[in-house]
Amino acid sequence: MTDQTPASAPFAPASAPAAFDPHALPPLRDVIARFGLEARKALGQNFLLDLNLTGRIARSANLPAGTTAIEVGPGPGGLTRALLATNAVKVIAIERDRRFIEALQDVIEASQGRLSIVEADALTVDPEVLAPAPRAIVANLPYNVATPLLLGWLARIEAYVSLTLMFQKEVADRLVAKPGSKAYGRLSVITQWRSDARVLFNLPPRAFTPPPKVESTVVHLTPRVNPEPADWRALEQVTAAAFGQRRKMLRQSLKSLGNAEALLEETGIAPTARAEEIHVAGFAALARAFRARHPLEPPAEPPAEGPAEGPGEGPK
Ligand code: SAM
Repeated sequence: MTDQTPASAPFAPASAPAAFDPHALPPLRDVIARFGLEARKALGQNFLLDLNLTGRIARSANLPAGTTAIEVGPGPGGLTRALLATNAVKVIAIERDRRFIEALQDVIEASQGRLSIVEADALTVDPEVLAPAPRAIVANLPYNVATPLLLGWLARIEAYVSLTLMFQKEVADRLVAKPGSKAYGRLSVITQWRSDARVLFNLPPRAFTPPPKVESTVVHLTPRVNPEPADWRALEQVTAAAFGQRRKMLRQSLKSLGNAEALLEETGIAPTARAEEIHVAGFAALARAFRARHPLEPPAEPPAEGPAEGPGEGPK
């Protein structure tokens, strides 16, 4: 991970951020042509070149004054420019594709010290180390790594004011799905256990260059005030078993956890119920009952800093 901000960049102002006009820089199409930034599919590169659209996303994040905005994948910088036109006291953008670092130098200069770029794979970066609180993440995510990135942030969502993220619509539908719907699954339970998630708006493929094959949706997530107590791994195990055989009754699908009938009796959940009928609170209760019967092994070594529990492979 390397900070690509020139050492000569002035420091950020202490109070209100300096005014920034996203339109004052060359059009994004010119930036792309000048630096030869053809999109790479393997890095999920579908760019937003309409500054009205990136402005809408940045404003919808509704960042409180003094917030540091963290962006994953600035690409040619359309959303980055829009974030600089908000309340954000600073914008820290993490980009894996080195070609964009040079192309973003003009934005860094125009930002008067408010923008820094970190060249890194966002999957390996802890935003809490990069940015002081209050911090928020705003990103048009690379869809190939959107779910693992989200799970990593959800595990520590209390560290963020909010997450405002573009997903492919099918994933967004799963994040906000309610029990009884086809889209309701492990990702819905884990997301809604940790956060209040709501859909802001959809964007058609033609809003992007090049257009992706799917529709896209911006989702706003804020930390849930009183999440039901449960630990992450237990909840993952319980939801994996339950949704792994979603059409079966829980007394059958939870068998792999051992003593399914007892877990259901302790939590007051009908053994004939199916996974898709169970609310987040029910899964949290099952996770607690499961953990009580299967305590975590004490760590062999002193634990490393950070949360003891966090996302594993993650729900699909
Ligand atoms: N923010 C730009 C926009 O809205 O036009 C670009 C969004 S594009 C969907 C995703 C961006 O994420 C690309 O710039 C891509 O290079 C970058 N990216 C892909 N994988 C990444 C990763 N693992 N870590 C950091 N950036 C990544």
